[in-house]
Amino acid sequence: MRIRELGRAKLVAKRIINRFAPGGIILLYHRVASVPSDPFKLCVKPHHFAQHLEVLKQHYQPVSLQQIAQALKDGNSVNRWVAITFDDGYADNLYNAKPLLEKYDIPATVFVTTANLENEQEFWWDELDRLLLQPGTLPKTLSLSINGNTYKWDLGEAAANYSEEAFERNRTWTWYAPENTDPSERHHLYRKLYQLLDSVSIPERQKLLGELLVWSGKESFRRSTHRSLFPAEVYTLQEDSLVEVGAHTVNHPFLSKLSVTKQQYELQQSKTCLEQLIGRPVSSFAYPHGDYTAQTAAIACEVGFTCACSTVPNKVRSNSNFFQLPRLEVQDWNGEEFAKQLTKWLYFET
Ligand SMILES: [Zn+2]
Repeated sequence: MRIRELGRAKLVAKRIINRFAPGGIILLYHRVASVPSDPFKLCVKPHHFAQHLEVLKQHYQPVSLQQIAQALKDGNSVNRWVAITFDDGYADNLYNAKPLLEKYDIPATVFVTTANLENEQEFWWDELDRLLLQPGTLPKTLSLSINGNTYKWDLGEAAANYSEEAFERNRTWTWYAPENTDPSERHHLYRKLYQLLDSVSIPERQKLLGELLVWSGKESFRRSTHRSLFPAEVYTLQEDSLVEVGAHTVNHPFLSKLSVTKQQYELQQSKTCLEQLIGRPVSSFAYPHGDYTAQTAAIACEVGFTCACSTVPNKVRSNSNFFQLPRLEVQDWNGEEFAKQLTKWLYFET
C-alpha cells in the first residue's frame, strides 16, 4: 500500500514538473507531393519535407505517436518530442514520404480512410479540382438540385473556356483566400460546391459528383498524382514498422453530425478493415476534419484505440487527453521557415 502511494506521489510530482516544460508537438501533414493546383494546401514538396526532417533530426527528438501516448500515460516528459502524422492515406505517403523517413530514420503515423482503398475515384475534394479548376472547356451554365433547392450558376465565356495561361496565373489560389478575391467564376463555383457537397449525405454527394461529371463532359478518371494507397501498398507502408498505420474512418465524415451507431461503424469498421489488411492491431485514430464530440472520443476508447488525434492547434502537454491529442498543421515551408515555426509553436504561441 505504502509503495503504491509512493508511486502515485512520484507520478503526480512528475506531472507537475512536466506541466511547466515546453511540451511536445504532433505534426499534421497530408501529402508529400508537387501538384499543379492545391486548393486546400495539402501538399508539402518533397525537398521541403526532407528539410523538415533534417531540422527535426538536428534539433528535436523525433518519436512515434505511440511513444508520445505512452509517455503521457506514464507521466513522463514529452519535452521537445516531435511526432509526424499524415491524414487521409494518399499514395505519395508511400512513394515520396517513406523513402525520406527511412533516410532520416524518423517514424510517422499514416491515418488511412478505408473507403478510398478500393475506390476508383479520387477524394471528392480532389474530384472537384479535376472537374472545375483544370484548364479546358466546360458548359457555360450549371443547374443542380441539392436537398430540394435548385442552384444555378453562369460561368461566363472566359471561365467556361479556361486557358492554360489563365490556369497558370491562378494555380496558387487556395480555398482559404477571401471569397471576394476569387480570380474567376470557376473558383467561385468550386468554393460554393465544396460548401454544398460538404453538408450533404455520402450517397447524395456521390449522386451530385456523378451529375457534375456528366455536365463537365470529362471522363471518369483517377489521376495517379491524386490517388489513395491501394490495399497492398498499406501493407508495404508499415511492413518494417517505421511507419504506423492508423485509422481515419471509412468515409471521412463529420463525425459530430452522425448518430452514435454510425460513428461506431465508422471507427470500428475502419479499424477492423486495416487490421485485416496489415495483420496487426491498429491503435491510433484521427478524427476527419478534426471534428468530434466527447461521445466520439468515448467511442474511440471503447472500440480499442489507445489514442486519437484532433486538429486543435496546440502543443502536447503532460495533462493532454490521449483521445483528444492536439496537432499542428504543417505548410509547404522550407527548412528555415519550418524551424522558425517549430520554435514559435513550442515557446511562444500555444
Ligand atoms: Zn482527413
